[in-house]
Amino acid sequence: HAIVRAMIAAPVALHARRADFPALCRPVNGLPLIYLDHAATSQKPQVVLDALMTAYVERCANVHRGVYALSEAATRDFEAVRHKVCSLIDAPDPRGVVFTKGTTESLNLLAHSLGQRFVQPGDEVLVTQLEHHSNVVPWQVMAKQRGATLVVAPVDAQGTLSLDALSRKLSPKTKIIACTHASNVTGALMDVRSICQLGRQVGALTVIDGAQAIPHLPVSVQELGCDFYCFSAHKLLGPFGVGVLWGRTAILDTMPPWQTGGAMVLSVRETESDYQPIPQRFEAGTQAVAEVIALGAAIDYLQGIGLPEIAKQEDALLQQAKQCLRKVPGLRLLGSEGPSVPVISFVLDGVHPHDVATALSAEGIAVRAGLHCAEPLFSALGVRGSVRISLSFVNTIEEIERLCTSLVQIGVLFR
Ligand code: PMP
Repeated sequence: HAIVRAMIAAPVALHARRADFPALCRPVNGLPLIYLDHAATSQKPQVVLDALMTAYVERCANVHRGVYALSEAATRDFEAVRHKVCSLIDAPDPRGVVFTKGTTESLNLLAHSLGQRFVQPGDEVLVTQLEHHSNVVPWQVMAKQRGATLVVAPVDAQGTLSLDALSRKLSPKTKIIACTHASNVTGALMDVRSICQLGRQVGALTVIDGAQAIPHLPVSVQELGCDFYCFSAHKLLGPFGVGVLWGRTAILDTMPPWQTGGAMVLSVRETESDYQPIPQRFEAGTQAVAEVIALGAAIDYLQGIGLPEIAKQEDALLQQAKQCLRKVPGLRLLGSEGPSVPVISFVLDGVHPHDVATALSAEGIAVRAGLHCAEPLFSALGVRGSVRISLSFVNTIEEIERLCTSLVQIGVLFR
């Protein structure tokens, strides 16, 4: 009994799940792959690849239109994923789940549609200095088109966004706050709950870019209190080409469509048309049916493990990784201490980040280098780029130690 109790009590090391990911089990250039770029895209477990293939073999039909069995089955499986998304983000109503191509498309849809509906000349839209370009450029374009002003809440020299700095930029003119849940450069988690509260106080809508948070922690849009939440399937163990825009149905209901055409209309006359109710109003054209179904498999897989356990084990690995990296001579971690997802940026004294990444690649270690589509943040950090490692529960401390050994050698070689 004691042995059984010990087995039950012992946490299962999630890196054993690596065997579920075929891409992580094959060598690249003859070397075992150490994949540390999960923030760019996650590798896909076999169950997701199987779901994708099965959907193409057994559900290859257009949804919502056919009355034949295959199309009905495809529609059923496709619509079931809206419910799975609701369970993933604790959303109250599947009508609030819109399928898009990814976070970028979700944010473009929102900028266009919210701009038309809520933003007048003289109004303000607030973003923060640490946003990914996907959560900056659409708002820049919309603000220009609507005669509004884009206001940027600054971060400090560590890349930290304080609530004070953000609230100083708020005013009754603020109509929208667009903010990331977690930085794709430093991993820092934002206090989204408080930001949404501040937004409500001035009557602003809140748009949260969840691309980097959703793979790593339990998310409840109801607890966060946001109006919109966006993410991409491909960073969530799912396929490319699919994303989610979740919105409060009471607001979505009043918003004009972005893309128009087939599937989003009720009736079309020669010079005007009536639109479908949500969510179809925002899903013009043929959908990525198989990919949406495979996203459902990715959600099942993650929930099968449990996001609280993933968060716990990834955070332990993150802390170990930081300790290990701090011992590398000449290495400086960017960002500050505080809650974060397992994403770390650093600079190696005297070595260009691209040289670091190229040298690591020769060792089979995949990391990102550069500005990570977050240029405004780098002017605050005062560096011209970084090396970024982004972890997942499939990574091990041994992989981090291999990384650190290589970094020490690169430092010696290049200096
Ligand atoms: N926001 C953040 C924080 C991101 O990290 C990314 C992807 N790097 C995006 C938005 C854009 O996601 P996608 O390219 O999947 O549309």
